[in-house]
Amino acid sequence: MQVAVVTGPGAVELRDEPRPRPGPEDVLIEVGTCGLCTMERRLYAGTKPIYPVAPGHEAAGRVVEAGEAVASLPGAPQVGDLVTMDLLTRCGPCHMCRRGRSALCKRPQGGTLSDGTISMGAGLAEVVRVAAAQTYGVGEIPVEHAAMGEPVACVVHSVRLSGFRSGDRVAVIGAGYMGRLHLALCRAWGAASVGLIDVSDQRRDEAAEAGAARVADPADVAGWQADHDVVFVTAGTPGAVELAMDLCDDAGAVILYGAFPKDIMASVGADRIHHHELSIIGVFSQEPEDWRTAAGLLQSGALAADLDRLVTARYQLADVADALALAVEQPVYRVMVG
Ligand SMILES: [Zn+2]
Ligand SMILES: [Zn+2]
Repeated sequence: MQVAVVTGPGAVELRDEPRPRPGPEDVLIEVGTCGLCTMERRLYAGTKPIYPVAPGHEAAGRVVEAGEAVASLPGAPQVGDLVTMDLLTRCGPCHMCRRGRSALCKRPQGGTLSDGTISMGAGLAEVVRVAAAQTYGVGEIPVEHAAMGEPVACVVHSVRLSGFRSGDRVAVIGAGYMGRLHLALCRAWGAASVGLIDVSDQRRDEAAEAGAARVADPADVAGWQADHDVVFVTAGTPGAVELAMDLCDDAGAVILYGAFPKDIMASVGADRIHHHELSIIGVFSQEPEDWRTAAGLLQSGALAADLDRLVTARYQLADVADALALAVEQPVYRVMVG
């Protein structure tokens, strides 16, 4: 079977890999499609130079083979089911896993292909092997939506840890793919309003079309009040934390979702946090309960119209180089491969 391997900046090839055999509690998934996330873009652009590497962690497809014990696992998808899949390693015994915070599992992530090539999901492939416990049935929905299981689970995690409740007034800094998923989820869960802030005219227009109550350039939010209950920062830029704090009403929470350059510091008033009961919460990745919620959301169709808008393009696996080039060179939401 074929798997895409990034061998250097701007270089990707399809390699032949032995078809994996499922262990007793594993399933084999015939990949329907796989989204290109920031990780894939950085590997291909050369800003994360780890080579050779088999990326692709936003994959979905059908179960084509199941290990002998899968039929007796309650709730496990069976042959023929369309699933979204969690390709992270969660070791189980480390302190964070036992504490229910497996997004922060201490075990090094990733595996290897048969020739020792590092795997970071290896979902840009014809077939993937994964533990049945890490697959989630989504019913019969478009496979592009199913392949958004991982990012939707990340956003479920973000909104869950934020303390968001229906009726809350929300702002999102950054109207890229992740900002738009926050918009979609908060609207679906009953936000009173969701405002989006982005530097791009086009992204602001598209966010408004997708249901943002209002949009603004970060340099021009003077008309916005400190009247938000939750502010999600999905674009880690200088000044974003301070801006988010300024948008918070009493008891507001600032959620740091997007990655920041390592050298960015933020300056916040400690007394303001105390007197106004403000919170700053970091969120990273996702956990099994977020996956279950994400799979339920996908199956329900509650986000279907939003997800349709976020599929920028779809390519065959043979054209993975064109897909990666598009994702690196253009502002995109999600480019799908497979
Ligand atoms: Zn991702
Ligand atoms: Zn662990």
